[in-house]
Amino acid sequence: MSAVETLLTNARLPDGRQGVTIAINDARITAILPPGAPRPEAGAVHDAGGDLVLPALTDGHMHLDKTFFGLPWMPHRAQASRMSRIETDQVTLPALPLSTAARAGELIRRCVARGTGHIRTHVDITPTFKLTALEGLLAAREAHAHLASIQIVAFPQAGVMRAPGVAALLEDAVRAGADLVGGIDPSEVDRDARGQLDTIFGIAERHGVGIDIHLHEPGELGLYGVQEICARTRAQGMQGQVTISHAFGLGALPESKQKAAAEMMAESGVALASHGAGGATLPPLFALAEAGVRVFCGNDDVRDSWSPYGNGDMLERAAVIGWRVDVRHDPLLEQLFAMCSSVGAEVIGITGHGLAEGKNASFFTIPAETIGEAIGQHPPRRLVFFRGRLVAQDGAIL
Ligand SMILES: [Zn+2]
Repeated sequence: MSAVETLLTNARLPDGRQGVTIAINDARITAILPPGAPRPEAGAVHDAGGDLVLPALTDGHMHLDKTFFGLPWMPHRAQASRMSRIETDQVTLPALPLSTAARAGELIRRCVARGTGHIRTHVDITPTFKLTALEGLLAAREAHAHLASIQIVAFPQAGVMRAPGVAALLEDAVRAGADLVGGIDPSEVDRDARGQLDTIFGIAERHGVGIDIHLHEPGELGLYGVQEICARTRAQGMQGQVTISHAFGLGALPESKQKAAAEMMAESGVALASHGAGGATLPPLFALAEAGVRVFCGNDDVRDSWSPYGNGDMLERAAVIGWRVDVRHDPLLEQLFAMCSSVGAEVIGITGHGLAEGKNASFFTIPAETIGEAIGQHPPRRLVFFRGRLVAQDGAIL
């Protein structure tokens, strides 16, 4: 048996196998050996101590540029409306005594120490910030490329049509390295759904990038937004490249309309990202997944100008979402875990995600027996591997 770089011994798998050894070479899982099987020579051997091994978590909706991590505690300042939070950002964030790159790095490392390997983050592109927040995130992404993969959405937080110059800035952001173009409440924020959607779909078409749109609009207005996004996605042949984040409006509709919307999203290849928001109606995540929509999850705002909550833990987020949608049984918790891991990875274009021979050696160990326990109790992660390297242990980045 030829030598390998790394072995993880005494591991438990989600399917119930115990005492297995995972062999890692060249960033991939090369073998999963049953108890008692001869082990190859290895450069490094780590003992999982009987802990459960799970594939890397995916945080599919983040705002790394807004976090306050790295700074003393800052009380929440905005009033209880989205527009107040947007306006507070424009004043608060540029005045912080720590750079975007440094604050984002603080949050990325917290995510990684809790088992996250893949992140999709939005970054504010506004008339005030122009490309400065993006430049900070590009630097943070490069500095942390050995710890996590990070996809960046150019996000018009202050609107597109109502914010002079933002359409051109979004295009500049994509040229500068943003992977997708974003949008926000085309009717409620811009009062011009056609204008905003035509603009961002135009940028996506010209530059060959995907789209991820924040849609907080309620009820029928939200449904109208979903319909318009799905129609443009089909018309431009962008199935599989478009995400709607939140879609709160779907949560307030009668079941027949929810069902029709789910079928339309599935046919259009439009994915849904959710963080299980408090204070808003929530789309029927499991019914959408049942209809064929790729539903994935993210933390959204983590200790920032929008929210004092969170530490970047996607298993804690899974517990919040599970509590919010009232799922309790193991099979549903396993499906919820997939929304926080493999589905998100697929949507953001990670190939080889999973726990099997030939898959990426990006996974973590956790003192739990099953996925249900891992979500329900979300104890601290012990070992975190990213692309074959041990990158964090007992909550600390190595
Ligand atoms: Zn968001």
